[in-house]
Amino acid sequence: MTLQDVSTPAKTGAPADRPDTFDSLNPRTGDVVETYPVMTEDDVRAAVARARDAATWWSALSYDERKVRLNAWKGVITRRINQLANVIHEETGKPHGDAVLEASLAIDHLGWAASNAEKVTKRRRVPSGLVMMNQAASVEYLPLGVIGVIGPWNYPCFTPMGSIVYALAAGNTVVYKPSEYTPGVGAWLAATFAEVVPDHPVFQVVTGLGDTGAALCRAGVDKVAFTGSTATGKRVMAACAETLTPVIIEAGGKDPILVDADADVEAAADAALWGACSNAGQTCVGVERAYVHTTVNDEFMGHLLANASEIHGDDSADSKIGPITMPSQIDVIRAHIDDAIARGGKAVLGGPSAVGERFVQPTILVDVPEDSLAVQDETFGPTLTVARVQDMDEAIRLANNTRYGLGSTVFAGKNGMDIASRLRSGMTSINSVITFAGVPSLPFGGVGDSGFGRIHGPDGMKEFTYAKAIARQRFKPALKLTTFGRTEKADGQLTQLVTMLHGRGSTMEK
Ligand code: NDP
Repeated sequence: MTLQDVSTPAKTGAPADRPDTFDSLNPRTGDVVETYPVMTEDDVRAAVARARDAATWWSALSYDERKVRLNAWKGVITRRINQLANVIHEETGKPHGDAVLEASLAIDHLGWAASNAEKVTKRRRVPSGLVMMNQAASVEYLPLGVIGVIGPWNYPCFTPMGSIVYALAAGNTVVYKPSEYTPGVGAWLAATFAEVVPDHPVFQVVTGLGDTGAALCRAGVDKVAFTGSTATGKRVMAACAETLTPVIIEAGGKDPILVDADADVEAAADAALWGACSNAGQTCVGVERAYVHTTVNDEFMGHLLANASEIHGDDSADSKIGPITMPSQIDVIRAHIDDAIARGGKAVLGGPSAVGERFVQPTILVDVPEDSLAVQDETFGPTLTVARVQDMDEAIRLANNTRYGLGSTVFAGKNGMDIASRLRSGMTSINSVITFAGVPSLPFGGVGDSGFGRIHGPDGMKEFTYAKAIARQRFKPALKLTTFGRTEKADGQLTQLVTMLHGRGSTMEK
């Protein structure tokens, strides 16, 4: 990937304290993967202006015309999936196989969005009700215009594509600011899209540091879809508030797994380990806490420890755990483990010595107080706290006792659905882990400090649209209501009609 593949920055000159370029690094080796421009506020505004022009063309295409182009892009990505996985692998350090999995899921979402845009957004009739029975009522979902997408580094393909492809399929153009740790993945995606849609800048990438993201919030886009930490999400929201720009905030999580007495305990332990340690624990919907029924806790711990002790993160090509991508996260992981142990917790695997310079080894903590950092704050490392509970009521109470509410996992026999519905989280998988993210028709997003708004599925696509309601008069009304010529007789008839429709059954009496 070369510098020419991203939108060219304007030569406005950078302030003394801001560099003109930045390096994307390989976190396994520290080597420079590529150098990218730090785009200025002017660059970002210019990209948004180009996107606005392109939106006129893109939104005027028919559903089929957009679908053909999106499917062509899907074909290019699919045929070059190994190339994309290499870029992901180089910039994040994650194993190549994990990068292929990430790209595959993004491709599946792209296919769903392309195929379902018409069904989700096209005009449809809705009932007009008895009072307005002379009206034909209908609603359609129109594109907002230009969407600003700001993405994280941990799933630099899957996560932003969850916004980008739904926004494009709904008829918007997109300006995407990737994380400074993974600009190459963003540039690769935009470059391949431009091969399919060469004449109009429908999907552009602007590279840079946090300031470039902040500039995107202020650049006059019609909505910002942000994925990242809760702290940055608050800054994004504050910046967007200045111009009443709407936002979706997909922020962090502290996801629990609950294991009931009648669960498949071996499968639960396998899921808990993968949920906690895959991607070195750097997963917004990664499992960070386990609440296990006392009758199966020992069995669960046996399987968990046996499996976890087989997993090791290192430089080797067959390592199942990559490095911690963002160096500063190492300190957060260490602080959480130290705090847990200082407060009476025990590391039954790993612990402080598991935290290296680039890699962190799986760490299982027990007897950790529920108000400690390792239970309350997002750790974003390959760690798991395990707590024994007397029953699932206790498990649900503890699981819900954080300010986050992103995903959750339940392993149970007969009560799985009941437990899942009582968990305060945007998504739950029962008897599998994180699978909700791979089902394109399911909405993805959280509550509380995990953010608001949804990506994926019909709900996620509608986030990038506005509802356009039309009431068309089919015949003259018997009751003329919306005129100064309304008579007392009409008022009386209206009262009679409303009383007939709503008068009964509207008291607390049975
Ligand atoms: P950050 O919040 O640090 O950064 C996210 C993005 O925001 C980056 O592109 C960053 O740019 C940009 N940014 C930084 N400052 C600003 C600003 N002032 N205004 C606008 N944009 C800004 O998150 P991470 O990249 O560290 O990602 C990890 C976090 O993302 C975790 O908390 C994780 O849980 C969450 N996440 C949530 C998901 C979800 O769907 N709910 C999915 C995946 C991750 P730069 O990198 O250049 O600083």
